[in-house]
Order: sequence, then C-alpha cells, then structure tokens
Amino acid sequence: MRTGDFETSDPPLGRCPTCETAIPRSDLVVAYETPDGWPRMLAACPACEVTVHPL
Ligand SMILES: [Zn+2]
Repeated sequence: MRTGDFETSDPPLGRCPTCETAIPRSDLVVAYETPDGWPRMLAACPACEVTVHPL
C-alpha cells in the first residue's frame, strides 16, 4: 500500500556499512565532530540492531 510514508522531507542519514540498509533520520543516536573537524554520526541500524556509522 502506498501511503507516502517514505516520502518525507528528510533524506536518510545514510546506509549501514554492514547491510546497506538505508537508515532513517529518526534512528540517529548522536552526531559529533572529530578533533579533525569531520562530522560523524552514530545511528542504530534497523536491520542489524547495532549502532553504526552511516555511509
Ligand atoms: Zn545494518
């Protein structure tokens, strides 16, 4: 059934490096910057059920 639930204004955070599942923004755990100034994100993969760095 097409309800448009996946047509949100927010794109996914990225993909799980393990299973390549798209990780929605709602699964963001924490966002931070490394000492080098690179933005990094930790998000919970809905498929692996672990926290990963979205690609
Ligand atoms: Zn995964």
